[in-house]
Parts: sequence; C-alpha cells; structure tokens
Amino acid sequence: MARYGMLIDTKKCVECFGCRVACQMQNGLPPEEAFIHFYEKETGTFPNVNIQILPVQCQHCENPPCMKNCPTGATYKNKDGIVLVDENKCIGCKYCVVSCPYQARVPNHKTGVVEKCRFCVEEVEKGKAPICVATCVGNARIFGDLDDPNSEISREIIKRKAIPLRADLGTKPKIYYVR
Ligand code: SF4
Ligand code: SF4
Repeated sequence: MARYGMLIDTKKCVECFGCRVACQMQNGLPPEEAFIHFYEKETGTFPNVNIQILPVQCQHCENPPCMKNCPTGATYKNKDGIVLVDENKCIGCKYCVVSCPYQARVPNHKTGVVEKCRFCVEEVEKGKAPICVATCVGNARIFGDLDDPNSEISREIIKRKAIPLRADLGTKPKIYYVR
C-alpha cells in the first residue's frame, strides 16, 4: 500500500504541452477533451510582466468532495489513494463535476460517464510512472509514494518547498507544486 502523489515544478515546465498530448493519447481522448488543463497567471507589473503556466489535473485529494457527493459510489479511492471512477456505476449526473474545486472532471459525451486523470493506474500497478511524468521533457514532474520519506518525491517536496493548490479548501490534494 502506498499514498501516491505528484510534484509539478512549474519552473522546470517548458510549456510544450507534451504531457497533455501524451495523456490524451494514453486515454484515447479527442483533441478537444483533456484531463490536463493549463491555467495562466500574470505576475509582476508592467513592463516586467510574466505569464506563469500552471498545469492542473485531478489532484487525487485525500478528502475528495467528488467522492463524497457521488450518489452511486462510482467515485472511489483505491488502496493506494488514487481516486478512480467505476464507469459501470456512473450515471452521468455530474455532481462530481460541480463538486470538484479544481475543475478536473471531464464528461465523456459519447459514453455519458464522467472521467478524469487516473494517475495512469494500470501503468503504476506495473511499477511505471504515469505517462505525463514519463514523457515530460523538462523533468518537471515527479511521481511516487508520499508515505515513504526516502522516495524522490518526498525528498524533493521538502527541498523545493512544494505546496498543494488551495490547501485551505481542506481537500488535501496530493499534487504538490513549485511555483
Ligand atoms: S481534484 Fe477534483 S476530481 Fe480529483 S479527487 Fe479532488 S475533487 Fe475529486
Ligand atoms: S457523474 Fe458519475 S462519478 Fe460523477 S457523481 Fe455522478 S455518478 Fe458519480
């Protein structure tokens, strides 16, 4: 049993959007649908303005409102804390879509079920990293067990002072950002 999480170092992100494309291919998504979104934030004051790009996907919250509000139990956490959707139980009500403060949920218009990043659980079970981590050309992403103090992710979170997004919401997200 692990408690899987991710570190995204936005300072290393080269903004190639390769992670999103790799994720779309891995999950068979059409070009207009994506599990990884990019948000832009302006920092500094004119004329020294910077645009910072923030890649956001399901944060695999330890306290996920999407799971709490799912009326059928379709949304669940596996033994390693990865938040998943059982497509046989999902009725497409979209309660999870409105519950997710990270806008990570993506309704599949063909099947009617609601999908999202699954931390490439099948790859992880084979001992591999999620595809967005494995293909990141900037090495901006690290995946691993947050419960193992010797894992690369645990050490780098401390070293790079990475913090989760909107920790104030109490969702306990498991993606940590360097910004
Ligand atoms: S980020 Fe959204 S979809 Fe993912 S676990 Fe948290 S509340 Fe659920
Ligand atoms: S759309 Fe599916 S996963 Fe989302 S709350 Fe409804 S039943 Fe649960």
